[in-house]
Amino acid sequence: MITRFAPSPTGPLHLGHAFSALTAFGLAKRSGGTCLLRIDDIDQARSRPEFEAMIFDDLAWLGLTWPEPVLRQSSSAPHLADALDRLAALGLIYPCSCSRRDIAEAAGAPQEGVPSHGPDGRIYPGTCRGRSLADRTPGDALRLDMARALALAGALPAFTEKGPERPGIHQFAEVDFTETIGDVVVSRKGGAPAYHLSVVIDDAAQKVSLVTRGLDLFDATPIHVLLQHLLGLPVPDYHHHRLIRDAAGKRLAKRDDARSLASYRAEGKSPADIRMMLGIS
Ligand code: GLU
Repeated sequence: MITRFAPSPTGPLHLGHAFSALTAFGLAKRSGGTCLLRIDDIDQARSRPEFEAMIFDDLAWLGLTWPEPVLRQSSSAPHLADALDRLAALGLIYPCSCSRRDIAEAAGAPQEGVPSHGPDGRIYPGTCRGRSLADRTPGDALRLDMARALALAGALPAFTEKGPERPGIHQFAEVDFTETIGDVVVSRKGGAPAYHLSVVIDDAAQKVSLVTRGLDLFDATPIHVLLQHLLGLPVPDYHHHRLIRDAAGKRLAKRDDARSLASYRAEGKSPADIRMMLGIS
């Protein structure tokens, strides 16, 4: 098996990342597989070389080793362009010039029983749907026309969840993609890659057979399986692990700098202390 730990170099790693990394590397070790390290640096505005250097340093300190070379998501542009061409040839993507504010205004007041946000953020109200790719301007994002994509995709493959929280085979009959997810962004304004497409392309390019990541991304998995299916890529197994929370029960985020691994290291904590704090033996 091949799994991966794929942090974004947009801040120092915290305990949640350590848990994700130790889980992924541990799963690979136990099954005689490989765990790759990938730098998910698609957010070029927020990615910083110093955070990338800290990732390597913190992971090595935890005792982890990974195969070289390490893939940077930013180097996958040619694969992404091919995938976008394929989606375009299928007539599934359209240009979108809406700002967050435009979307919020068009979405209007929330209605009871109708979800306003999904795994790709606010559910897109469809303002630019129907625009032709031929009039795309450089400032436009590209969105997947979800209703068309579903009609073309037909029956979606199931995926196997191997994590302890929601194990089993997950089908998509119960997911209402148009109501609860909507037209997701597949390329951002200015042509920057968008997360859902990048992650699917890179996992396939790296032959990842088990995607290890936090439960916060569980609801994004249907989007990834849909894209895999549309692009003719294999559907890997998934292992969504529990999230590490602070004392108040809040999920750790990068801005909780006090909990960075670097700060624990500076306090004199050892890798064994970190494992103990995370409940990993
Ligand atoms: N790069 C993503 C993150 O930092 C994880 C990618 C994934 O597992 O899909 O949250």
